[in-house]
Amino acid sequence: MRTVVGITDFGEAELFAREADELYCGVPALANHRDGQRNLKDFRELGRIAALAARHGKPLLVAANEVYEPRAYRAAIAGLRKCLAAGAAGFIVRDAGLLREMKERGLKTELVLSSLALCFNVETLKFYKELGISRVVLPQHLDVREAAGILKNRLGVKTEVFYFPQSFCPNMDGACPYHTLAPRRQQNCRITLRSGGRDYSMRKPPEERMLRLLYGYLKAGADYLKISRDDPEKKQRVLSMARRASALAAGGASFDKFLISSRRWGWHEV
Ligand SMILES: [Zn+2]
Repeated sequence: MRTVVGITDFGEAELFAREADELYCGVPALANHRDGQRNLKDFRELGRIAALAARHGKPLLVAANEVYEPRAYRAAIAGLRKCLAAGAAGFIVRDAGLLREMKERGLKTELVLSSLALCFNVETLKFYKELGISRVVLPQHLDVREAAGILKNRLGVKTEVFYFPQSFCPNMDGACPYHTLAPRRQQNCRITLRSGGRDYSMRKPPEERMLRLLYGYLKAGADYLKISRDDPEKKQRVLSMARRASALAAGGASFDKFLISSRRWGWHEV
């Protein structure tokens, strides 16, 4: 299991180029699914980070995981090419239209299908594979049994899952109409609303349910474990927990042991 860590600046890159197996980031020129503050400053910073990652033998991917208007394709393709020129190893994408445009223009590189594309089955995976993707990030709510076909696909597509205590949308991220790019705690799908003197809120699944999902994915042999660009100050702790969780599941630990250990590490506090 390889670890993928989202970074927001050169300082984080210095830290995680050593500790993670792969890095990803956003740049202002390419729309992606985090607020702009989580992006690098510019292509120059991207170039410095790509060079640093290369010295450690680690690939650096760039997130372009939003839906683009057709009129924005031209600028997006130019942005993608600039990233490659700066040393990026590939992209995280969700938009079939943009993927088709890249294919038609001969832009070949490593392409990871974002969880936001909501690829729920092998037939969908085949569709995206034909558009050039080589890895898929599982939607966070996909049950392990339902994900089995994707996890064991024979298309040569690698699989990736989130280590997600902090990044679990109560709806379905990618299709959630309440999601905003505001800081996490202010997202509408997490706000408690008051009506008629009562509080209403959409809740995350219970902790045990989330851990059971994670345990199942790890046992089923997902290739990559992803840690998002959120909460920079806590990411090192998250990476350490993600590694231990992965080793436990791979080592044949029971779910009860996995649950107890994860709680002891304080996985939900990050
Ligand atoms: Zn949401």
